[in-house]
Amino acid sequence: MNRIPFNRPHMTGKELYHIARAHFNGQLAGDGPFTERCHAWLEDRTGSGKALLTHSCTGALEMAALLLEIGPGDEVIMPSYTFVSTANAFVLRGAVPVFVDIREDTLNLDERLVEAAITPRTRAIVPVHYAGVACEMDTIMAIAQRHRLKVVEDAAQGVMATYKGRALGSIGDLGAYSFHETKNVISGEGGAVLVNRPELALRAEIIRQKGTDRSRFLRGEVDKYTWQEAGSSFLPGELVAAFLWAQLEEAERMTGERLARWRFYHELLEPLESKGLLRRPIVPADRRHNAHMYYVLLAGEIDRQAVLAEFERNGIGAVFHYVPLHSSPAGQRYGRACGALEVTNRRSRQLVRLPLWVELTEAAQEKVVGVLQHATERGD
Ligand SMILES: *Cc1c(COP(=O)(O)O)cnc(C)c1O
Repeated sequence: MNRIPFNRPHMTGKELYHIARAHFNGQLAGDGPFTERCHAWLEDRTGSGKALLTHSCTGALEMAALLLEIGPGDEVIMPSYTFVSTANAFVLRGAVPVFVDIREDTLNLDERLVEAAITPRTRAIVPVHYAGVACEMDTIMAIAQRHRLKVVEDAAQGVMATYKGRALGSIGDLGAYSFHETKNVISGEGGAVLVNRPELALRAEIIRQKGTDRSRFLRGEVDKYTWQEAGSSFLPGELVAAFLWAQLEEAERMTGERLARWRFYHELLEPLESKGLLRRPIVPADRRHNAHMYYVLLAGEIDRQAVLAEFERNGIGAVFHYVPLHSSPAGQRYGRACGALEVTNRRSRQLVRLPLWVELTEAAQEKVVGVLQHATERGD
């Protein structure tokens, strides 16, 4: 059997067609017709007042930090169990990431620990919707309101997922999506910022367009455009937007197919969970996930390195996930851990992500589970 890669990007078949149309249109810089179409689709799907494409989710998070005027010495509460960009965006503004532990069930920020991490310098909370499963947003929003904090949702993995019927990324003040090749809906590198507060919309456009009011100029609202505030270039070109448009058109189908693969793993792995070899992901009933990821948590006594080696020997791309930020060199330099982060440390050592992509076959999934069963039953 051929190698089963961890990820294989899915193309809908219309990407090159749309790119050819953008080429024919002759507009290659950003904010052309394809970008407009993507914006409208995102606003329609998420209910956010304003969606703006960015060159990455990293860029979207950096925009969020600029928009909220986060500055030196400000504190931003986030999980340690996340991708580096969650913290980097705020560290670039001189802020201090304050790392809070995660929940045992969803591996998301433990909302019960957030209030204890708040100090007079706290400015924002950044919940990360791990694996496309929503954080406890009602509680997080209530805490933010009580303490006058902003909420930036790192919804990099959360496209097409919901919490109590609301799109992830549309609940906080700002939300950030990723369209990186490894995510569900892709454009190679790509992202979007959702601006959910109307009073931030105009500044979001300005910050994204090099700090100028070029967007207003293009709409004919001003007769020239000038430097308005500190900004950068966060927008993608039209070729990327054209590619993304082909993906958004098929986002519903692709999510459905990923969910089918996810459920099949979930069924196959039930006996292993019953034997106490591992724990499967938990998705609370009030939220709809998007099958971004299928992971297992190996029982404490199982040697993960040996399991990963067994996958490798069988040509299967299974991987661990985040080295917690509080234990990384930059996390120690720039951040502060709130408490012992015991769940973060333990869960990050147990976790193995299995291959999950649209064209993955049932036979391949059965092989993955077979190898996992062999590796765990052996007591590795
Ligand atoms: C992928 C990811 C990012 C970064 O996304 P890019 O589009 O690659 O910049 C940020 N946060 C989380 C949680 C992610 O999974």
